[in-house]
Amino acid sequence: MSRPQTSHLFYQSRQRRPVLDQARGVYMWDVDGKRYLDGSSGAMVCNIGHSNPRVLEAMRKQMDKSTFGYRLHFETEPAELLAARTAALAPEGLEKVFFVSGGSEAVESAIKLARQNAIAIGQAQRYKIISREPSYHGCTLGALALTGYAPLTAPFDPMMRPMPKIPAPRAYLDGLDPDDEATGRHYADMLEAKILSEGPETILAFIVEPIGGASTGALVPPKGYMQRIREICTRYGVLLIHDEVMTGGGRTGKFFAGEHWNVDPDILVISKGFAAGYAPLGAMIAHKDIVTNVLDNGGFLHGFTYAGNPLACSAGLAVLDEIERENLCQNAAETGALLKSELKKLMDRYSIIGDVRGEGLLLAFELVEDRASLRPLAKELNAFNELVDIAYENGLIIYSRRTRGGYSGDHFLIAPPMISTPDHVAEIIEGLDLSLRQFLDRISQQQAR
Ligand code: PMP
Repeated sequence: MSRPQTSHLFYQSRQRRPVLDQARGVYMWDVDGKRYLDGSSGAMVCNIGHSNPRVLEAMRKQMDKSTFGYRLHFETEPAELLAARTAALAPEGLEKVFFVSGGSEAVESAIKLARQNAIAIGQAQRYKIISREPSYHGCTLGALALTGYAPLTAPFDPMMRPMPKIPAPRAYLDGLDPDDEATGRHYADMLEAKILSEGPETILAFIVEPIGGASTGALVPPKGYMQRIREICTRYGVLLIHDEVMTGGGRTGKFFAGEHWNVDPDILVISKGFAAGYAPLGAMIAHKDIVTNVLDNGGFLHGFTYAGNPLACSAGLAVLDEIERENLCQNAAETGALLKSELKKLMDRYSIIGDVRGEGLLLAFELVEDRASLRPLAKELNAFNELVDIAYENGLIIYSRRTRGGYSGDHFLIAPPMISTPDHVAEIIEGLDLSLRQFLDRISQQQAR
């Protein structure tokens, strides 16, 4: 196919990718007929696989009825049903569902709801939201102010209100044992120290990805961390926001990742796996008391035109049906455990794999120069791009970030759809094995020159 000169992508030319033709299940085909295994579900989005016929049929049915009903003019059945089913899955008390079209919108909504709640309860001096470094919470200016990743935030710093940050609990980098409760306490207590140094009366909320996404590369918090964070937030009247944009919807083996520790936030945000790529959809799910406070004090000053779109909500409902019908949370847990153990086996063959981590089908490995020191690979090797490009050539899509210390450290997310089978796991490992070998060959050729 002659390739159109695309103008809708703001990328450098080296990042140009094939033109997608079609996708089914865990596979995608470009217009030249080359097949790829979607080893990252897009950006951890397509949780139930591509082109599921039952989801498409549900959407077609909805399309025949209506594709838009403005939320201030009409209630719609898909939005009502999806809100009820989502609230039923959420922790107790988190009964109010506010629909949006994506993760950043969901985080913005949480920020504004938390702030309006503080005003409603006579605590207007609370405005700071503590987050972690590194973290990713979205690209809009409010969510970006909470994002702990300087390469993305620096140009906009003068335009944003600085928000306090604490380190993410990367025990593996600090040489601490993540299974030791003292490690969890060590990192969680940094939250308390930050609240105290900033002035508890000024702190509105703490936002956390229960299991890290792109920013930390599937970082699982150390033992006791999440529970202690909850206790600290409660002690200081600070709202706890779980950013489950990536983890929500079953990918980690539980519908919400917070379930791994039985920890309930005050506000929860989801998006990617919610309609799993079939439509733009996200939600903020908030404790009923918070919503009552805000509504009784004049209403929520926030909302997006496309919110609660019936077509998007019909997709969300059909995706939930699919997760339940096919037991996909359990499959994510089981297939994820297999994939993780196979990734760990690759460590025996490749000393540049410094760490394998994650839960369910949200997994990652990190490449380093040397496992003992965990020193990152030289920046010039551009590993986070190179390995992804090689994997592409080998028909495997993976997702990478360079985050450690800002510009150094390369990690790769391996997060295939929740419908993946042991055969798919074998194919992913084969593709990675080949790609890592070719990557090392390229490095030695470069060094020989
Ligand atoms: N929060 C987290 C944890 C995310 O992973 C993302 C997206 N990567 C966002 C927020 C922002 O979502 P979106 O790109 O849909 O705006």
